[in-house]
Amino acid sequence: MTQVQFQPLDDSKWGPSADGRFGQFGGRYIPETLMAAVDQLDDAYTAARSDDAFWREFCDILTHYVGRPSPLTVAKRLTKQLGGAQILFKREDLNHTGAHKINNTIGQLLLTKRMGKTRVIAETGAGQHGVATATAAAFFGIECAVYMGAEDIRRQKLNVFRMELLGAKVVSVETGQRTLKDAINAAMRDWMGTSENTHYVIGSVMGPHPFPRMVRDFQCIVGQEARAQMLDQTGSLPDCVIACVGGGSNAAGIFAPFLDDEDVKLIGVEAAGENLKHKRHAATLSKGKPGILHGMETVVLQDDQGQTLPVHSISAGLDYPGVGPEHAHWHQIGRVSYTSVNDDDALAAFTTLAETEGIIPALESAHAIAHVIKLAPSMSEKDSIVVNLSGRGDKDVVEAGRLLGKTWD
Ligand SMILES: *Cc1c(COP(=O)(O)O)cnc(C)c1O
Repeated sequence: MTQVQFQPLDDSKWGPSADGRFGQFGGRYIPETLMAAVDQLDDAYTAARSDDAFWREFCDILTHYVGRPSPLTVAKRLTKQLGGAQILFKREDLNHTGAHKINNTIGQLLLTKRMGKTRVIAETGAGQHGVATATAAAFFGIECAVYMGAEDIRRQKLNVFRMELLGAKVVSVETGQRTLKDAINAAMRDWMGTSENTHYVIGSVMGPHPFPRMVRDFQCIVGQEARAQMLDQTGSLPDCVIACVGGGSNAAGIFAPFLDDEDVKLIGVEAAGENLKHKRHAATLSKGKPGILHGMETVVLQDDQGQTLPVHSISAGLDYPGVGPEHAHWHQIGRVSYTSVNDDDALAAFTTLAETEGIIPALESAHAIAHVIKLAPSMSEKDSIVVNLSGRGDKDVVEAGRLLGKTWD
């Protein structure tokens, strides 16, 4: 595969409906003042979606700037060590900026340009989506502001500087807990006053319709490539596809192109944090209930009064109390199964992969690998598992070192 080929999903069977519903989930729960901006986005994306020129440009940038297609790598030594199913990695860690997030920000910036808007905003927790947005904004020459909680800014100085190097303005949010939730509120307030010239770049398959559908479509490049590469390299489809789930974009992207392949088992892995019993976790689909969060109906971690619960995970990217509405639907109808992996097992998988394959994975991706380590030995040598290696772990080495007891002067 040299040049990226991409077709948006035929979603007449799997949704969303015209009003943005996946089964009971999704929809739009936003203030009246944002309705016009979201409608405009929906119209612009619907038009772009059926325009070959839009996808040609998208594919061209993914090929020549992002470095796609990413390889599908056989994990020979890990497979041998576990003694079961053959394991293959979809290498999103090899993309420009080191993760899958760039697929989405390139798509949304392309749409921003098409809408004639001159500015983008985003919110970020650990900074990964902020960096991916700032990168795409620099590529297109579009002004960029990233909202970030003051507490997160303090913890993520390197990513703040990265965004600044890329020409973005990082806006410190001093309200509430001064973390991601407060940054989302601040970005929403900005958008209410600026939507005429500003697009709000959401970083996962969440938010009001059409965001969950649009972000899934951009990330579907991952699954379309993986499916074609499996057929090309092994002659058959995998028995199982596994991905970690925070908001759910890398998982939705690799799962969706396999939805109609009924024999392919799809497994999403959430963060069990310290332990599911101790409430310090982020296992939304295991422990949450239907509710409204950030403009969508989905499954939410909440208390008996419906207040959103605080979440915890070793990996910042999985630390979210909700999940994309399409995942809530796949969970409800049973097409995808969801499980969780705790901090300790994720950290163990992080070091195992480094030693056996020479790949230091993102701590998020290490959750998916930890589940593979549990699952593969129970499968036959004739079976195969594709794992989405959503990102590389360079960003996590200091934190992993701290957790493993390493001290630096
Ligand atoms: C942000 C991130 C995730 C989690 O986001 P999803 O929308 O669930 O994919 C997972 N892996 C990496 C490397 C990330 O940067």
